[in-house]
Formats: sequence, C-alpha cells, structure tokens
Amino acid sequence: MDLDQNSPEVVTALQAAIKASALCEKIRMDLAAGATLLKSDRSPVTIADFGSQAMICKMIRQKFPHDAIVAEEDSKELRRPDCSRILDRVTDYVNAFIPNSSSEEVCSWIDLGSNSVTDRFWALDPIDGTKGFLRGDQYAIALALIERGRVTLGILACPNLYTDIHHLTGEKGCLFLALKGRGAFQMDRRGADKRPICVSKAEIPSEAIITESVEPDHADHLTHQRLAEKLNISKPSLRMDSQAKYGILARGEVTLYLRVPSSAEPGYKENIWDHAAGSIIAEEAGGRVTDVLGRPLDFSSGIKMEKNQGIFVSNGILHEVVLKALEM
Ligand code: AMP
Ligand code: MG
Repeated sequence: MDLDQNSPEVVTALQAAIKASALCEKIRMDLAAGATLLKSDRSPVTIADFGSQAMICKMIRQKFPHDAIVAEEDSKELRRPDCSRILDRVTDYVNAFIPNSSSEEVCSWIDLGSNSVTDRFWALDPIDGTKGFLRGDQYAIALALIERGRVTLGILACPNLYTDIHHLTGEKGCLFLALKGRGAFQMDRRGADKRPICVSKAEIPSEAIITESVEPDHADHLTHQRLAEKLNISKPSLRMDSQAKYGILARGEVTLYLRVPSSAEPGYKENIWDHAAGSIIAEEAGGRVTDVLGRPLDFSSGIKMEKNQGIFVSNGILHEVVLKALEM
C-alpha cells in the first residue's frame, strides 16, 4: 500500500529526524559556545553522529520491529575503554531527548543499524556532510525507506539551511519530505509550515545554476567547470556540503547537481544513504536523478551503488541536453 502523510512510517520518521536534528544543533551550539574542543578534533561530529543514529534507530525499530536499518555507524569503537568519555557525552546528549537512556542502551540502539539490504529497509545517514558540520556549514540527517529497490519515502533534515533564499536573515533549519507519487514538501525545523516544492522551470542551459560538493575530493570540479563553459553557464557554481544540495534543487534554487567522480578516487562507489533520501525529494519535486551516464540509481544491490558512476540531478527539462554535454 502506498504511503500518505498520515502513515505511521511518515509520522515516525519525521519525529525521529526532528529529534536528531535538534540533538545535532545542540552539540554544534555547545561547541561554538564552549570551545573546549580543538577545531581539528573530530569528537563533536563523532558524538552527534552516534547520538543521531542511536535515537533514529531506536524510534524506527520500536515502531517497525521487522524493518532492517542500513546505517553508517556501529558501536564497536565507542565501546572501547579509551572512548568512554565520548560514550558518556553521547549518552548525556541522548538523555536530553530520550530520558533515562543508559550507555548500554545507546550502544545497542546504534547497533540496530546493519548492512542488510532486504525487501524493505531504511537507509540512514545520521550526519551527512560531516565536514560541513565541523565548518559550521551545511549538513543533513538523511533517512529513506526503500521497498523492493525503490525509494518510497525520503526525509532530509537540514538544520543549518535557510528556509527561504529571499529571506536569509530568517530562521534557519528545514525539513524536506517526499513520498512516492505524492510530491515533495518543505517544512520548518519543527515540522510546521508545510508547503509543496518544485524544481526550476529553466529551459535554457546557459541559465542553469550548478551545485556541487565543497570538498574537492568528492567530485571533479574541473570537469564541472568545463561543462559549465560548454553550456555557456555564466553564474558561478554553488558549493554546498551534504544532501542539502538535493533540497535546494528540489525547491528551484539551483538547476543542476553534478557529482562527476573525482580523479583523486575514480573508482569510488557512492553509498546508498548518501543519495536515497535526496533522490526521491528531487524526483517528487519534478526533477530527474541518474548517474553521470544517465543510468537510474541502484538502491537494491548493497550498501554501495556498484552499478552507478557519479550522480547527476536536474530539473528534468535539461537532463538529456546536459547528459549529452557530459559525454565530452
Ligand atoms: P558531499 O557533502 O556532497 O561532498 O558528500 C559527503 C559524502 O561524500 C560523505 O557522506 C561521503 O560518504 C562521501 N564521499 C566520501 N569520499 C568520496 C569520494 N571520493 N567521492 C564521492 N563521495 C565521497
Ligand atoms: Mg554521508
């Protein structure tokens, strides 16, 4: 049966993403205020990553005991004696949202995540864009439901993303939601103010705006630049971390999301949790999502998208012409 806005899957996944997003922001604010950690120290992102995964896995498993959850982290490292301080911090933060949680429970919730790609499973990236999180830029909590190889529900919480490009001084933090066949929506960080979103109507390639990763190792920026020149695109590319890129494309602020594999790591295979939620949000907003060779994304073979090479997302209208230009 198709999901709708009142399906328990949607209600639970939204609640979980809202809680995880609040936890991540709390950690980021504490970090900014306290500055007890060195900038080069990755512990804040580690704490947020584990805390976010623990809470989301617990809430999903409680409601859907038979569903597998494919998620990035496990608790092996966290259980090591030299990580006890980190585990204490994770437990403290989780307690602020799920009172009376013990460290043992937190570890066991993290371990609800597995590698098992089954007929129906959830794909979770507890913090996508860890480098953006540490820099104070964009990051996302990405949760998707995949049924028989198709993404049927996608949620992206983007706690540091403006809700309106024309109102950059407004409140930050938004949630994107898409359900198969039912469109894509944006809400504020609390899940209120829901509105449908749609991709840009740009028909002329030269008017397109490209978005791409901030990190040069994650995509081939030089090839993106060459493509922009070939299509006479004059507006500069918008570099952004995480799947927030899918969100801004879905609401029409950019036209093309390019992720040509970086020459630093040409054999890199994308993880399903890095694209499942974002892809349904872009598609349900009217966009098209393929790899850079025009092939559909494969979410059914395992945690790695072995059959795909890079990612290419567009407003649909410009997809074929840009794919052709990518053949250069
Ligand atoms: P982004 O913020 O869009 O650059 O994407 C962040 C994601 O890039 C992380 O979640 C990583 O899983 C993924 N990643 C890591 N190394 C690579 C790579 N060499 N090529 C593409 N993606 C990568
Ligand atoms: Mg990620």
